[in-house]
Amino acid sequence: MPYGRCLGIAIIWGFVGITAAQEIRNPLPSQLEVSSDFSGGAAEFQRIDQKQRLIRLVPPRPEGRGWVVWWYFKATGIQPGETITVEVGNGPWSTPLQAACSTDNRHWTQTDAGEMRGEFMVYRHRVDGDTAWFAWGPPFTVEDAQQLVDEADNRLACAAAFELCKSREGRPTPALVIQQPGVDDDHRWGIWIQARQHAWESGSSWVCRGVVDWLTSDDPRAEAFRKSAKVYIVPVMDVDNVAVGAGGKEQKPHDHNRDWSDAPHFHAVAAAQEHIRRENAAGRFDMFVDLHNPAPNTKEPFFFLAPADMISAPRRANIDRFLAMCRLEMTGPLKFTGQTYESGPRYDDAWSRISKNWVTVNTRDHVVALTLETAWNTPYSTPEGYSAVGRQLAMAIERYFRESPRR
Ligand SMILES: [Zn+2]
Repeated sequence: MPYGRCLGIAIIWGFVGITAAQEIRNPLPSQLEVSSDFSGGAAEFQRIDQKQRLIRLVPPRPEGRGWVVWWYFKATGIQPGETITVEVGNGPWSTPLQAACSTDNRHWTQTDAGEMRGEFMVYRHRVDGDTAWFAWGPPFTVEDAQQLVDEADNRLACAAAFELCKSREGRPTPALVIQQPGVDDDHRWGIWIQARQHAWESGSSWVCRGVVDWLTSDDPRAEAFRKSAKVYIVPVMDVDNVAVGAGGKEQKPHDHNRDWSDAPHFHAVAAAQEHIRRENAAGRFDMFVDLHNPAPNTKEPFFFLAPADMISAPRRANIDRFLAMCRLEMTGPLKFTGQTYESGPRYDDAWSRISKNWVTVNTRDHVVALTLETAWNTPYSTPEGYSAVGRQLAMAIERYFRESPRR
């Protein structure tokens, strides 16, 4: 693997000079060893202090792979019950108030709030195990995406896992389509939901997971909705940068969410466009939702909309109605209170190549296309908190489609 996975193992011995007699009275703690050589792993280790039980790192800087934000590593040699100190540098985007931690690499909680010391955020965490994983946020790897779509496929006959495409580096991009026999195709709502056009925004894949969990659940609302909708879901769009633990945003030549042109660079964007164009041409496309994580100071979910002058009257009415449904359903703990922003020329020079803007221009004028930004720097920015946002988003979608958006 080219980047982020070859940082190797660092071992630095402590207690140099201790006498044999002292050793017997105070046995040496086991050596802390650290590694990021696994799927999604990323760390540039600067210091491992065996005596202070301290690990210092910064996110790695893989050339051309976008923002330097994401970090995720494993530590072994921990004495169960001891407190490990993790120091992370590189500024506020890399250093959440609380970092994610796990003793099994599956169930993620948060550390206590970190404290800034100089240029480093210092997290202290008592580990009840001999191994721990620490990360910027709860990781969601390409393998997790595959497992999510495979589990849905196994659980429900009407859910089918498929490969959206092979990425530019040859990795499969897992996707899912859900449609239960019920209404005929012409009266079925067409919906596209995707996450992780920006690889570091792992929380958006957990939101996506919440969407899938609800849509495939036995909630009678979900069961009824599956009979009247065809929902495409892509939990990770930028599989290459997620796999190597790179940031992805503003990668070379540009990132996935500046790639929605007539000649996309990324295969996932091209494949998504093809599906959306086909459904739209058949009169069977109604909604597009792109899932992201925003800036560190954001505390609530909000939506980005296309610029007002691009939005027709029918589209505007539908967006307003959908946002009203989101206010009803997205009740927290990460709550949608109605906040929206435009991403137009004043937001970004490449605004016309942002996904929902492309969808707005290239679909029928009743179609709702928006970006959901879910706050990552809160005590609720956990798998449970993110999944709740996804479930509530899915319920808002179901409620919206109780009334036809088509004119
Ligand atoms: Zn983003």
